[in-house]
Amino acid sequence: MANSTSRRSFLSKAAIAAAMAPLAPLASFGEGLEKAVENTEKASPPSDLKITDIKCGYIKGSLFVKIFTNQNIWGCGEGVDAIPGTYYLVKNFGERLKGKNPLNVHRLFEDIRRSGFFQGAQSGMYVAVLSAVETALWDLAGKALGLPVYQLLGGKFRDKVRVYCDTALYQHRLPAPKDFAEAATKAKKMGFNAMKFDLDQATDPNKYDAYNWTASPAELQRMVDQISAAREAVGPNIDICVDMHGRYDAVTGQQVAKRLEPLNLMWLEEPIPAENVEAYKLITDSTSTPICAGENHYLAYGFRRLLEIGAVDIVMPDLQKAGGLGEGQRIANLANLYYVPFAPHMVASFLGAMASAHVCASVPNFLILEWQSYFHTDPMFKEIVTYDGSWVDKSFITVSDKPGIGVEINEEGMKKYAIPNVPFFA
Ligand SMILES: [Mg+2]
Repeated sequence: MANSTSRRSFLSKAAIAAAMAPLAPLASFGEGLEKAVENTEKASPPSDLKITDIKCGYIKGSLFVKIFTNQNIWGCGEGVDAIPGTYYLVKNFGERLKGKNPLNVHRLFEDIRRSGFFQGAQSGMYVAVLSAVETALWDLAGKALGLPVYQLLGGKFRDKVRVYCDTALYQHRLPAPKDFAEAATKAKKMGFNAMKFDLDQATDPNKYDAYNWTASPAELQRMVDQISAAREAVGPNIDICVDMHGRYDAVTGQQVAKRLEPLNLMWLEEPIPAENVEAYKLITDSTSTPICAGENHYLAYGFRRLLEIGAVDIVMPDLQKAGGLGEGQRIANLANLYYVPFAPHMVASFLGAMASAHVCASVPNFLILEWQSYFHTDPMFKEIVTYDGSWVDKSFITVSDKPGIGVEINEEGMKKYAIPNVPFFA
């Protein structure tokens, strides 16, 4: 982005001022847009922009892609979970993108999706990698046009995106109710007004059978005791979410939802695996506890039936896995037709968090975004990206006004965490 010749006479300051004139009484709305355009270094007309290469790096759980162009600007994106072993898939997508104009984000997404109908483009690794690539295209388009991604997505409903703190208690082997209370108190002291706890414990000694998914009476009581301790610690006005990671059966899902009703949860997440949406509906219909799912559903197609039959109360797509930012917005808008809130799952780095935040800002039915407590304790997360603003203020992320996503990959900082024996940005 070194060249400073004007790229876009069509979005000159004068043109923007003229477009904004009727809205003048609404003051600051549009200022971000104008500043972003003013502050963007220009190279040449957007129509001359071409993709020249795509490179990637892997750390535990995350794939980072970087798309390069003929104008010394690049875009960064991240995919999660379904990404191990996908290096050659990234390279394959890259070959399909070379020479193309990155500004046609929806079209490039659709080209790759359609060309993969017989290669698994419906879900899994294919879509997770596509999510990373699509996100990088938005970042690139934003940098090329001088606009933050939320603006490319149609503008924002809010400047700040509310987040909940995942307490990551799964890092303890068998957390006791007092550990739940401690983690809850700590998250509240850090300023979070919403938090999440995991209830599934594979090593629970009260489990009779490792493969059967029915919780024993003692397991059920353990769950109730843990979440009761958390609720007692933070009081009635903090939102509490509970995740079962799809590791129980429908009868247990119904029992847990019923037993936790007095604790007024924000939601109970994935009590059963993702595949059978009719089983979700059984649970949802049986309880006043809101039921949430979506981190193992892919593309807007994956959410159609879930929403159509009212199988869940809240959807939680993972935007680094379910298809990217445009697809995330489509899922949110689909959910909005059913008055279902949108609460994205997020286990990526701060790059993924901010990418998700742009989508969360752009839709009316956004409820809350996931945030990780380990961002505050594991130095890796600060080392692998560059960002000069504050990450989170109490329970809110301020959506970046910089062109693109606003967060960069730090390849130097990431190098030492790279998965061995996989090419790293090469
Ligand atoms: Mg979950």
